[in-house]
Amino acid sequence: MNNITVFCGSSLGTDAQFEENASLLGATLAKHKIGLVYGGADIGLMGAVANGALKQGGNVIGVLPKFLKTKEIAHTNLTELIIVDSMHERKMKMNDLCDGVISLPGGLGTLEEFFEMMTWAQLGLHQKPIGLLNIGGYYDALITMLKTMADKGFMKASDHDLVLVSDNVDELLHKMQNYVAPPAIKWITDDTI
Ligand code: AMP
Repeated sequence: MNNITVFCGSSLGTDAQFEENASLLGATLAKHKIGLVYGGADIGLMGAVANGALKQGGNVIGVLPKFLKTKEIAHTNLTELIIVDSMHERKMKMNDLCDGVISLPGGLGTLEEFFEMMTWAQLGLHQKPIGLLNIGGYYDALITMLKTMADKGFMKASDHDLVLVSDNVDELLHKMQNYVAPPAIKWITDDTI
């Protein structure tokens, strides 16, 4: 993997281990010479993951929509900051630039980004690994919800395998490196996209 996109909170959350692990993830990506792609802000866990990578000499690309430039306080020290016109363009760009995604703890924006990647994977629109760094059990309820969706017939049980979960950065990266996407659903073709 050359680049990994990280989705995470624009807040720090209430537990110090969220920030510690965000910083550790950034540093670990840099050590493995994997570029970090993220939302481009210098606040919350977004700032922590970027600064963790930068401190280790990592390559960091931020993708920030124009209208969020002041609200999310653009990081001024990145390898590259790409300014886009809309949230949709931001997500497309972050997807185009990466070979896999990781969600750290976050709020509505993080979950929106995570679920978009999951739904695109479910439709066979991409074959990239999707990791969930389940720090301190933050995502336990979401994992339970995915199981409920499958149990109640709203998601294929096999689609559980689209998400790779660990509470440990190295283990999660290892799972992502070894990920083999399920065969694409036949009724999706390039013309459909
Ligand atoms: P949050 O997890 O809510 O702190 O947001 C994390 C990141 O997701 C921030 O960069 C937000 O700008 C972004 N975000 C917020 N709402 C959305 C949305 N509806 N779609 C995509 N990204 C969003």
